[in-house]
Amino acid sequence: MNDCIFCKIITGEIPSKKVYEDEFIYAFNDIKPEAPVHILVTPKEHITSAAEVDEKNSYLIAKCFEVIAKISGEKGLNGGYRIINNCGHDGGQTVFHLHFHLLGGKVFNDL
Ligand code: 5GP
Ligand code: ZN
Repeated sequence: MNDCIFCKIITGEIPSKKVYEDEFIYAFNDIKPEAPVHILVTPKEHITSAAEVDEKNSYLIAKCFEVIAKISGEKGLNGGYRIINNCGHDGGQTVFHLHFHLLGGKVFNDL
């Protein structure tokens, strides 16, 4: 259907280090980690970016946050963590399949 690398990761066509999977969500380690824990949490459905969230697919955003709460506990991020979404070209998005970065295992002081 498309050339989206995250769609290919979700189907297994491109290998990844899976952290979590259910009917709706796939989470895997970022290939270029920016923190001791750097996990990408993404809906299995192809949503291009946060700008494409609407009343039909917004439940998947809630599911992403449920998964983040679950896996952050499993990864021992009890002191907190950072969640990032880069939206669109100006937001620094490089892979155009909506995802949240879960970053942890260090203290973030900057914005
Ligand atoms: P964005 O810049 O779109 O918010 O984030 C894309 C992220 O995907 C980057 O942190 C990048 O390291 C990660 N990434 C890009 N290609 C791959 C890949 O093939 N496998 C994995 N595991 N991560 C990837
Ligand atoms: Zn995709």
